[in-house]
Amino acid sequence: MKLSLSNGIFSKLSVKANLETVKRLGFDNIEFNMKSIKKEQDTGVYREQKALADSGLNCLSLHSAVLHVADPIEVHQAVYYGKISIECARALKAPLMVVHSNVAKTLQRKQRERCLREVFGEIVPFAKKMGVKLALENLSVGSSGFGINGEQLAEVLGIIDVKSEMGVTFDLCHALETGVMDELLETYGNRICNVHMANKDHQPFMKKAPELSRFLAKLHTFGYEGPITLELEHRASMETIVGAKTFLEGEIKNL
Ligand SMILES: [Zn+2]
Repeated sequence: MKLSLSNGIFSKLSVKANLETVKRLGFDNIEFNMKSIKKEQDTGVYREQKALADSGLNCLSLHSAVLHVADPIEVHQAVYYGKISIECARALKAPLMVVHSNVAKTLQRKQRERCLREVFGEIVPFAKKMGVKLALENLSVGSSGFGINGEQLAEVLGIIDVKSEMGVTFDLCHALETGVMDELLETYGNRICNVHMANKDHQPFMKKAPELSRFLAKLHTFGYEGPITLELEHRASMETIVGAKTFLEGEIKNL
């Protein structure tokens, strides 16, 4: 398993300072979150490519810019966000991109199906062409998006991933808040290709916890070798991030 840090936590910094901070904290790997790019700069990738090369970090995954479509009129915008994210993933040589369902939980089933088909009908072939694997994330109960538990994820994947080629980004914080950790591990364990690691409320695990041990042990039995991406709330201090990193390294080593 490869420990990684989501740089979304430093999204207020310039891309260069953002990546330098991740490196200074002792990480070798990042998940590049598209919210680190200012809106007016989201069509170029050179700045990000250069900052990444200068930092010496490996970009293991990229978190897509996301719009939870609440009205079919927004489909084009969601497709646009998805495509510029895929282009950035390719530029940063990230093999994997985290996606949400891109549909709001307020949509009625029929509209939801239509929007899922329209958004992913464009994003899936584009990602394939660019050599980027997509990994659908389970969302939090508080999210405006659809897809928080096994039933909802099955509905989404049944529409957007008929060939079962898509991976799953297992967000442990969301799964714990929703109470679906074991259910999701059971159903999607062998499709996990990225992990968002945090306790409830995106707080870091700093000491042993039964649910964390159970989760890591399960991943280990699946032979999971992918990223363990620390995804923490933005108020976490530098000290806390380093502490969480050291603790998790120990837990992973002892598996
Ligand atoms: Zn997440």
